[in-house]
Amino acid sequence: MTASNHNRHRGGAALWQVFRLILRDQSTALIRGAALSLVVLIAGIALLGLSGWFITAAAAAGLAGMGAVFDVFRPSAMVRFLALGRTAARYGERLLTHDATLKALTTIRVRLLATTVTAPHDLLVRLRGPQALNRLMADVDALDGVPLRLILPLAAGIAAQLITFAALWWLVDLSVALWIATGFLGAAAIVLARAARAAARSSGEEEAAAQAFRSQLIDLIRARDDLAAYGQLTRQGETVLATDAERHRRRADLDRIERRAGFALSLTGTVVAAGALAIGMMLARNGMITPALAAIGFFASLALMETIAPLRRAMADLGRMGVAAQRVAASLNTVALAPKDGLSGQTAELQIRDLSFRRDGALLPILDKVSLAISAGESVAITGPSGSGKSTLLLLTARLLAPEAGQITIGCLPLADWDESRLRAVVTLVPQRSALMAGTVGDALRLGCPDASDAALWEVLEAVSLTLVIRSKGGLECRLGPQGAGLSGGEARRLVLARSLLRRPGLLLMDEPTEGLDEKTALAVLAGIRAYLPAASILTASHRPAEIGWADRVIQLDQCRAMGPAGPKKLQPSK
Ligand code: ADP
Ligand code: MG
Repeated sequence: MTASNHNRHRGGAALWQVFRLILRDQSTALIRGAALSLVVLIAGIALLGLSGWFITAAAAAGLAGMGAVFDVFRPSAMVRFLALGRTAARYGERLLTHDATLKALTTIRVRLLATTVTAPHDLLVRLRGPQALNRLMADVDALDGVPLRLILPLAAGIAAQLITFAALWWLVDLSVALWIATGFLGAAAIVLARAARAAARSSGEEEAAAQAFRSQLIDLIRARDDLAAYGQLTRQGETVLATDAERHRRRADLDRIERRAGFALSLTGTVVAAGALAIGMMLARNGMITPALAAIGFFASLALMETIAPLRRAMADLGRMGVAAQRVAASLNTVALAPKDGLSGQTAELQIRDLSFRRDGALLPILDKVSLAISAGESVAITGPSGSGKSTLLLLTARLLAPEAGQITIGCLPLADWDESRLRAVVTLVPQRSALMAGTVGDALRLGCPDASDAALWEVLEAVSLTLVIRSKGGLECRLGPQGAGLSGGEARRLVLARSLLRRPGLLLMDEPTEGLDEKTALAVLAGIRAYLPAASILTASHRPAEIGWADRVIQLDQCRAMGPAGPKKLQPSK
């Protein structure tokens, strides 16, 4: 199986999975909608077939001088009923299927968001904001075509063809019915398959350009200050515009493919209708059917155009829908972390024994048999050069990564046995890069502790020496921009630290907590944290003298790695 074949196959499976999700969510409305779209097609075919028969029969009656006895009322009432019924059914079908599809896509969006926010930490780290946004917005948007333009029209079209086949066989003749059905189904299959193949590449490229455009635009807006400072704003802007132009070129390719397919399909319809007319005339000349019945086949095939014409759009979009469906299905299929059951621990003492960790596929472990212990009320700083695994050790301790070997115990309970929500209440990690969202200072602080009183907020602000800063900016109601815009780097860092204090964790893990603070402020903040949480065990990843000097004990991570894999490691307290 070639790669592109394989991709197409996976795209097909993903499309089917997405359709099943949509169907399961909105089965009643979609089945009713499908029935109505079949009614629309059948009514259209019956309308044209009947009209054709009516006109021809009336003319024949006139020619034969039987105009006075020819019943014009019943057929014309029928024509009116079909025309109005068709319009009403079309209206109902559009309403039902679009409403159902949009509702089902909302469900998918919510599920995507849910799996995104509960994905394992490792996956989240790799997920970039613009990509996640793309997936939620553009990919899910692209999926509305799956029921609306692909599966419902295809199913209704095939059903209408089969019903018409049976009706024509019964009313007119097998040869006419067979010609029309094979003509339409065969030619449409060929034209649509060719269009789908031609569109697949442009479609994928258009999709890639559209995603790139969104990501680049978001990056441009996010990094505008830096870009302006380096004089690159215009150039970066041009890059974004070039990506957009590329997207439009691909879109134009797709439009061309769609137009050609549309032309081929109308040609098919014309040839089939002409053939049906010729066969009907031959049959009529041989006296096997009346000329009026012969007209039915011709007019019905004109109406049957409606069963294949809408599909050309779906073929042009097939590649895009397939890629989007694959990504959405893959995101939905990632298993969310299941919360573990376990008893709560009494204290938050930390014990790590022979902990080893290696990244997927890496030859050398990042951490090799690391052991350490922290008692309640003690602060320990892990030091080591950049890349020695300090941050990794904190992530493992917070159960955001799973160790390869070794034991971590918090309180009297192994880390793996802790219930997720209990664990989060006891252990707080302040990562190296912590994000602040747009909102007030109060909102930012209450993120981890929604019920905290204003007094409690001021108390933690005081602990990190932010009282004066926040008061000068207008207090807890002061609004921050995205990513803490409005605060300096150091102020934002302290706000994040204050937020973690509010939860009063028993074990506080801080990754380079005072990065970006001057020596004096750093010491004041660290002292404030200790005073606020006198009984907590505190573990920091540090390389600043201020943090190292403040800690009760310092553990050198590179030393234990440098000693090689032989034997258990003794960690070296330097103080
Ligand atoms: P430190 O915090 O001491 O600077 P880290 O714990 O961040 O070190 O990283 C330890 C090692 O793990 C480094 O070699 C780094 O390249 C690697 N590493 C860190 N994060 C990832 C990741 N998400 N995927 C793969 N490797 C990583
Ligand atoms: Mg680090």
